[in-house]
Amino acid sequence: MPDPEPSYLAGLNPPQREAVLTTEGPLLVLAGAGTGKTAALTARLAHLIATRRAYPSEILAVTFTNKAAREMKERVGRLIGAAVEGMPWLGTFHSIGAKMLRRHAELLGLQSNFTILDTDDQLRLMKQLIQAEGLDEKRFPARQLAGLIDQWKNKGLTPADIGAEEGELFANGRGQKMYAAYQARLLALNACDFGDLLLLPLVLLRKDREVLGQYQTRFRYIMVDEYQDTNSAQYLWLRLLAQERKNICCVGDDDQSIYSWRGAEVANILRFERDFPGAKMVRLEQNYRSTPHILGAASGVIAGNAERLGKTLWTEVDQGDKVRVLGVWDGAEEARTVSEEIEQRQMQGQALDDFAILVRAQFQTREFEERFLQIGLPYRIVGGFRFYERAEIRDALAYLRLVAQPADDLAFERVVNVPKRGLGDKAVEKIHRLARAEGTPLLTAAARILDSDELTPQARRALSGFVSSIARWRDMASALPHAELARILLDECGYTAMLQAEKTAEASGRLENLSELARAMEDYESLSAFLEHVSLVMDNDAAPDERKVTIMTIHAAKGLEFNSVFLPGWEEGVFPSQRSLDEGGLTALEEERRLAYVAITRARRHCAILHAANRRIYGQWTSSIPSRFIAELPPEHIEEQSSVAGSANLWRTNWMERPDPFASVAMSGARGPGWQRAAQAGGIGTPDVRARDARPAASVAAKARDDLSLGMRVFHQKFGYGIIAAQDGNKLEIDFDSAGRKRVIDSFVSIG
Ligand code: ATP
Ligand code: MG
Repeated sequence: MPDPEPSYLAGLNPPQREAVLTTEGPLLVLAGAGTGKTAALTARLAHLIATRRAYPSEILAVTFTNKAAREMKERVGRLIGAAVEGMPWLGTFHSIGAKMLRRHAELLGLQSNFTILDTDDQLRLMKQLIQAEGLDEKRFPARQLAGLIDQWKNKGLTPADIGAEEGELFANGRGQKMYAAYQARLLALNACDFGDLLLLPLVLLRKDREVLGQYQTRFRYIMVDEYQDTNSAQYLWLRLLAQERKNICCVGDDDQSIYSWRGAEVANILRFERDFPGAKMVRLEQNYRSTPHILGAASGVIAGNAERLGKTLWTEVDQGDKVRVLGVWDGAEEARTVSEEIEQRQMQGQALDDFAILVRAQFQTREFEERFLQIGLPYRIVGGFRFYERAEIRDALAYLRLVAQPADDLAFERVVNVPKRGLGDKAVEKIHRLARAEGTPLLTAAARILDSDELTPQARRALSGFVSSIARWRDMASALPHAELARILLDECGYTAMLQAEKTAEASGRLENLSELARAMEDYESLSAFLEHVSLVMDNDAAPDERKVTIMTIHAAKGLEFNSVFLPGWEEGVFPSQRSLDEGGLTALEEERRLAYVAITRARRHCAILHAANRRIYGQWTSSIPSRFIAELPPEHIEEQSSVAGSANLWRTNWMERPDPFASVAMSGARGPGWQRAAQAGGIGTPDVRARDARPAASVAAKARDDLSLGMRVFHQKFGYGIIAAQDGNKLEIDFDSAGRKRVIDSFVSIG
């Protein structure tokens, strides 16, 4: 009697089985989103272990995130019905790289207890080197050098591999020299940076035949998920390691390559067949994740890309709802619309962790966070800090706090030398000493120390500038709208210039966050009301394993799935991003389109795309143009609704009228004719007409409610029932039945 079929094969379709059972030789699984690539890879891992083709320690399995690695291990355990003992080589390229380096550190001149520097340490080191080289840090910022060196590392290039031309890239030909100096410093410190976790294992495998041989023999099987996003260094590793046994299985989807900005090369897919002659190719076409409408919408968008390998996708899932395209007035309405729909579906029985809001850029999260906090809807931000916890936001808040409250010593300490103004630790220590001796706040002590000759001339100049600026901003605070003050302050203190000088995608994200902060301030009556709101928001942390709505970037959502997905901000300049439009070429735009494809295909049952008619970007109201990607959604798969008169269809016509789909690259940045026509037709209003919405504004206005009084029983969405113990303006202290006494904002409660 034949053995019963192992459970890990049950339910797999024929090509998936083929991928699982083809254990020997090179194998490439190329398939669209949701076709069960990761599922097949997991079953394959189970199969290799269950059939004793290899011990767990003899399999190298690479995932894109640490979380994915943990999940894969758990699932393999469940599939073979026993916990997997040790899978030391299951992880991300970085974690695997770190492990290899620790084992062979001495061969590279390191000790096995080397430290892995974080970005801050790395930048500090580079700054020192730039200074030591006598270069002007403003003209040649450390971040730029860091970006360059990281690119080289992602390509697998050591300082010795840098050609003369590339070495020219930093500070008139100093690139290569600075890179070499940086690596030497790292060695002296017994340290590595993240890029080294990819580069150094490659160096090791290349230079030490014996070590290479050990690993080539050890790794009987090599498997890689999300293969389309491997960079050159990673590809070179794989090629070396698989050379002997040639049992390498990579799964990926060229349409989901979204990390080219971090050095990923989709060409690695094309190289696979060349580098591994005789490679077998398996294609999966049945999608198990999404409804036909969701798939149809995603396929319609990605069809706009020229550079594709092309795939077929089908699904047996029920038709379901069409993808909804919702036109809203502004960001506040966008957040309100999403939250109302979540609450509604929650009442119908959907769990909160079924929902995800996937944004193109971090700054988009704020309006959702504020709304969710206001109504007490639990959420989690994945792969990033919550808005008010980001470094640049905390810096800006520290400035504002110091203006509002000169005795705020923590704020003083945070920003006295940010951006760098030449105040060393010694000077700061002197200020501290004086403050302690005289029992005054640091800012007062700083002003006093200027009267003495305690400081070096440079420190004196710097501190005097800082102290007088704070005083000036405080004067302004009484005369200017506080959001305006924030913008002026960030300009004058040099923060904006510091970020602009970096010229990196990360820095432009931080700039966006700062302008979003200023925008948020406009909803409050005064600076102190705003700061009060922030402090309340910051310590309202939800219980650890509560079910929550997920808010994350599309980049971070790769490989994941959710029942209901909301995709806000589909507007030209947000998505596709302004950066991709400014670059102009098709390459950047095609990557944005792949992101759109990844975004839509995260949804299992429901997908809603939102676009606002008005958006405040960099503090300015702009009339937004709906994303070109909306016009690319096939009409039969979508349902358009708009709370803004006549907008969505009008936009569709405008984009569709364009004879050449790529002409839009040039048109979008400069408000093209479509925009003007729409404006004339009344599709766009000015912000002044905002009042047409009778519902309360999403943002909290700091006005006190007059329907509440002491001793009243009220209900708070998060803390439940309680009795009002104190009322101070819009702030309440409530004795909750189960949560104890909490400070909350009155708009968060209803009369119970
Ligand atoms: P992505 O490209 O987004 O990474 P993927 O191709 O890796 O997607 P999976 O995440 O492996 O797809 O699978 C998508 C969904 O389909 C999961 O919920 C998975 O459990 C389910 N699935 C995969 N294969 C099958 C199958 N043969 N039968 C039923 N469900 C399946
Ligand atoms: Mg996957």
